[in-house]
Amino acid sequence: MTQPLSATDYLARLVAFPTVSAVSNLAMADAIEAMVAPYGGRCRRFPNATGDKANLLVTFGPELPGGVLFSGHMDVVPCEGQDWTGDPWTLRHVDGRVIGRGATDMKGFLACCLAAMPAIAAAPLQRPVHFAFSYDEEVGCTGVGSMAEWIGASAMRPRLAVIGEPSNMELITAHKGGMIGWAHVKGVPGHSSQPDKYVNAVMIAAELVAEINRIRQDMKDGPRLDLFDPPYSTIQVNQIRGGLHGNIVAEDCAFFWEMRVVPGTDDREVFRRFSTYAAEVLEPAMKRISPEAGIRFDVMSRIPLLAPLGESGLEAELLGLLGQSAPRGVSYGTEAGIFAAAGIPSVVCGPGDIADAHQPDEGIAIAQLDACVAFLERLAGSCRG
Ligand SMILES: [Zn+2]
Repeated sequence: MTQPLSATDYLARLVAFPTVSAVSNLAMADAIEAMVAPYGGRCRRFPNATGDKANLLVTFGPELPGGVLFSGHMDVVPCEGQDWTGDPWTLRHVDGRVIGRGATDMKGFLACCLAAMPAIAAAPLQRPVHFAFSYDEEVGCTGVGSMAEWIGASAMRPRLAVIGEPSNMELITAHKGGMIGWAHVKGVPGHSSQPDKYVNAVMIAAELVAEINRIRQDMKDGPRLDLFDPPYSTIQVNQIRGGLHGNIVAEDCAFFWEMRVVPGTDDREVFRRFSTYAAEVLEPAMKRISPEAGIRFDVMSRIPLLAPLGESGLEAELLGLLGQSAPRGVSYGTEAGIFAAAGIPSVVCGPGDIADAHQPDEGIAIAQLDACVAFLERLAGSCRG
């Protein structure tokens, strides 16, 4: 057995790989495979279509159902245009903190998993402990799906997945689900003295935005969960562009919409409501002027919501391990929703502060890393006899 390394030792090694989402993560996956091998970690890879990126699933102990899974993403956001005071890919120690791209979001958690390996490997495991390390989280959680679905459908489905996004080691048991995308309105251009002969894409888009605003008002009276702020679902349009000139009937208009839904609201139903309004209320009149006119929707990304754990006893177990009294909810999506959708009870709990993520001089307190390693070791202890 090799000399055990601390979480900061592992973090320094992981930060040295500039795994921004645009590039391959395979060199880092190779390095992690080499780190887990001496501890008996068995690796499975889930590559992307082009083979230049992969999820990495590491399993310790017997291949049985009911173990625990620790998950984090291997990709990081870029540093270009940010005011770093040192090399982002070289970990630095400053006043009880370590600084480097990904220190918080979220190579710090991956390093904690690796630092917990000696305790995991030394235990006589009756149930497996898994590390599930993903790619392409920072571009809409688009990488992890293949691995989450595989293990959720396998004969070793875990009883719990912990996604270690930065939460200051507080337990997060719920997050909103999200769907984002563009709406493109195609009109018919012409002189603005004859508006009835043409199709004004800006005016049609405005009607569709007004329908989305009605949905937003209805959401305030819809399902609620007080863990969230605000406790209800939301939908809005934050970007719109269209038209060419003040006296030409606008040919094109596009806007970007986003929704965040709470349990009890199905994001696909919400999407259906405004896309049906477009197809049944707005488009028939457009197509009477020209069959080329119409409205197209491009869904860019969808992250399933994370609902609270319910009556399983898991929540009490985790709060006990963490010494906390109540869980939290957040209004942004994580990969936990994807593991939950794959049938694995999932929570978010990880070291560091989300406010430090994506920042120049991204850093994390070493005390947070130590607290996380202790938590993971205690949780992995539940997989013993
Ligand atoms: Zn993250």
